[in-house]
This record gives sequence, C-alpha cells and structure tokens, in this order.
Amino acid sequence: MVDLSIVETKAVIIKTQDFKENDKLVWFYTEKLGKITAIVRGAKKSKSKFLALTLPLCYGEYMVYKGKSLYTLQEGKIIQSFQGLLNDLHKLTYSSYLCELIDIACTDNEINMELFKTLITTLYLLNTDALDYELLIRAFELRLLKTTGYNLTLNNCSVCRKKISSSNYISLSHYGGICDECPKEHGVFISKGAYNALRFLMNMDIDKLYRLNLNHEIKSEIEKVITFLVSNSYAKKPKSLEMLKFIKE
Ligand SMILES: [Zn+2]
Repeated sequence: MVDLSIVETKAVIIKTQDFKENDKLVWFYTEKLGKITAIVRGAKKSKSKFLALTLPLCYGEYMVYKGKSLYTLQEGKIIQSFQGLLNDLHKLTYSSYLCELIDIACTDNEINMELFKTLITTLYLLNTDALDYELLIRAFELRLLKTTGYNLTLNNCSVCRKKISSSNYISLSHYGGICDECPKEHGVFISKGAYNALRFLMNMDIDKLYRLNLNHEIKSEIEKVITFLVSNSYAKKPKSLEMLKFIKE
C-alpha cells in the first residue's frame, strides 16, 4: 500500500532544536514543500539512524509525512552533508547567514524552486575555495530579494519605468534605480561602477561568479544597498549580519 501522505523531497536543514528527551525539531528548506518543521523521534540517541541526517546544513533526500501541526521525518539519505563548512569561521558564519535568511524570508509551505536551487548552488560554491565569498553572499541576497517579491529594478527607472542605461541613485523605497527626471529621495547615491556591479551580480549565473572582480569601494557600496534592503524587507532582521561585520574586521 502506498501512503499518499508521505512526501519525498530534497531539503537542506536550516535550523535544529532539541525537543523533549530524545527528539529533535528540524527546520527543513525543501524543494517540494517550501520551509517546514519536522519532528525527528529519537534523533538524539547515539545509535539513531537520524543522527547524521539531522545535522545543521545537511542536504539530502528526505521522506516526511504531515501530522496535525508538524511533519515527522521518516527516512533520509545524505546527498552532501556540508559539515566542512562548520570548520571554517568565515564559511560557518556565511552559511548560518544563508540559513537565517531563508528562515526570515520564507513563510511555511511556500514553494520556491528557484530559491531552493539558488541555496543549493550557493552552499556548493561556499564549500569550494577560490571564490570571493562576500560576492557570493551578495548574489544570493539579490536572488533572495528577487524570488520573494522584492526584485531590484535596474534597467528601468523604478518610479516612472523609463528605460535607463545606468543611474547614480538607488531608491530604497522603490527598490531600484532612478532616472534623471524623477525625485531622488529615500535612497542612496552610488557610483556608476557599483550600479553596474549590482546589475551584473543580478543577471550573471551564480556559478560564473569567480570571473567577477570588484574593488573594495564598490563592494562596500553594494553591501550597503543590499543589506539595507534585506534588513528592511522582511518581518525580522537577520542577526548574523552583525557577526559578518565582526569577522570582516
Ligand atoms: Zn523616472
């Protein structure tokens, strides 16, 4: 007999919490169900088959079924545990930030295949060397904004919608560039280089990121714009941002 209430889906563990004596609560970001919370019975027992399957950041194929309020994890198979990310302070902080962003930007059960794919690609890239992780995080943030309804408008004026080739101003209330005729308010002036970098970061394939090389000034300009938008678009502000600033110093 096939139980139709069981769903098999790829997922990443974005958060875990101990629950009762032997159980664990696990927040999965899944391909087929969006963000869900599942109870994993006996996960804390040392011989549990779930022990390795329920570590933070673990990416796998999971089978869950829905109860009254929570899902229950039935089985799972690791695709990539990403545990190596936990051994490096920078990678640990960046990956915690990614998980936190998913948590604050996504509501339960809201399916977002594009964002799911982006998260997986970003984690794989973070797991490699030879890449500017800061730019990787910026590219992820831009895609997060885009796929959750806060897309930055850079090819048109975000007020009058006229086509623009560049701009020296980003409106933080209209999420985009402003043309020469429209009022420049509630935003920040940025250099042409930073404007173009933003557009480039938004449109390029995330796995081609290693080709992009930006100087420190441009990077801090785009960081200012993007982190402002991320901090103000969702109900909660990401806390790991503070930690990110701290490790950069
Ligand atoms: Zn305009």
